[in-house]
Amino acid sequence: MKTNFRQDFPILNDEANPVVYLDSAATTQKPLSVIKSLENYYTSQNANPLRGLYKLSATATSEYEQARHSVAQFINANEDCEIIFTRNTTESLNLIAYTYGMENIQEGDEIVISILEHHSNILPWQMIAKLKKATLKYMYINDEGIISDEEIQTKITPKTKIVSITQVSNVLGIATPLKAIIKKAHEVGAIAIVDGAQGAPHMATDVQDLDCDFYAFSGHKMLAPMGIGILYGKKSILEQMPPFLRGGEMIETVSEQDATFAPLPEKFEAGTPNVSGAIALKAAIEYINQVGFSYIEQQEEKLMKIAMEELSKLPYITIYGSPDYKKHKGVLSFNIQDIHPHDVSSLVDYHGNIALRAGNHCAHPLLKYLNAQSTNRISFYFYNTKEDVYQFIEQIKKVRSYLG
Ligand code: PLP
Repeated sequence: MKTNFRQDFPILNDEANPVVYLDSAATTQKPLSVIKSLENYYTSQNANPLRGLYKLSATATSEYEQARHSVAQFINANEDCEIIFTRNTTESLNLIAYTYGMENIQEGDEIVISILEHHSNILPWQMIAKLKKATLKYMYINDEGIISDEEIQTKITPKTKIVSITQVSNVLGIATPLKAIIKKAHEVGAIAIVDGAQGAPHMATDVQDLDCDFYAFSGHKMLAPMGIGILYGKKSILEQMPPFLRGGEMIETVSEQDATFAPLPEKFEAGTPNVSGAIALKAAIEYINQVGFSYIEQQEEKLMKIAMEELSKLPYITIYGSPDYKKHKGVLSFNIQDIHPHDVSSLVDYHGNIALRAGNHCAHPLLKYLNAQSTNRISFYFYNTKEDVYQFIEQIKKVRSYLG
């Protein structure tokens, strides 16, 4: 079985700039097959899909639709038309808020999210709550970063109309109890939305098994280019929702004063779509399927074990979330006592060419809850190696000496 995947990633093999890339939660590196699929599209297939009847346009259309099919299979959607292409997770979540949220939330209703959320899954709901005089409620976590069953049972009530929850925290790497949350949401008649940005790249996801109503994720966090995102929605719900953006490609008829809309999925894909991005996303899915989620999870767990064991030996390190390495799905936040994360990141970059994230990770409420202004964050993907981790640890040990 092939395991030398790293050689397929040009940036990771650049001898002139041998980077230790530990920021895959922000965006992953891209394998050659994905880069080549972009080149291939623009060298031999480029045309505006849906509009033209000529061969090139028909090819672009069919490639685009095959990409949709491949995404549907990847998350086990029931039908291809349940896959809407967007720009990213942020746009997918905003789409739901601006359409479903605007139509269905009323004064006194409750929207429930968790303290683990990325700003993309907070701000759209703050907006809807303010506009509609609804309440935005948070499920909190325990010391190990887990949302307890009690929290789920007490926060989701008959007043709840929307529950929107991350699959995996981008700060702590902790997976949420999705099934219990979705079940409770449905028991009270609410819809359940999953932010899969940090889940889809790392674990097999089956939207029918989860029974979520929506699932949002980003191509660029799973080997595909930036600018292609996905929103899965149950057909029966998508059909009831008004369009998000209006214009070309999403209509059936237009008169001077009125319009009727195309069926799914075009209703939600106004304007010229990102065809090359969708095709490259298909190439990324093919690559991930070749690697396999069992290998991805094993590799990330192996690296996380070393990272946590080594960091735990250093008395000046604080690790956030669970002390169990198995709970960190490729992501770990930590701080070095008395040294600002930005300094840590700059120093390990300068001395070791290590790409290490530092900041608030677009999760201000969570950082406040953790009593941290900012953290350092490492995040792995299957292409990382033990050597990456040891080089990182080596540099972390030196950081204190650099600062005297
Ligand atoms: N949700 C989570 C959990 C994330 O980690 C991120 C990005 O880091 C997002 C949403 C937003 O993703 P994008 O910037 O691709 O829209």
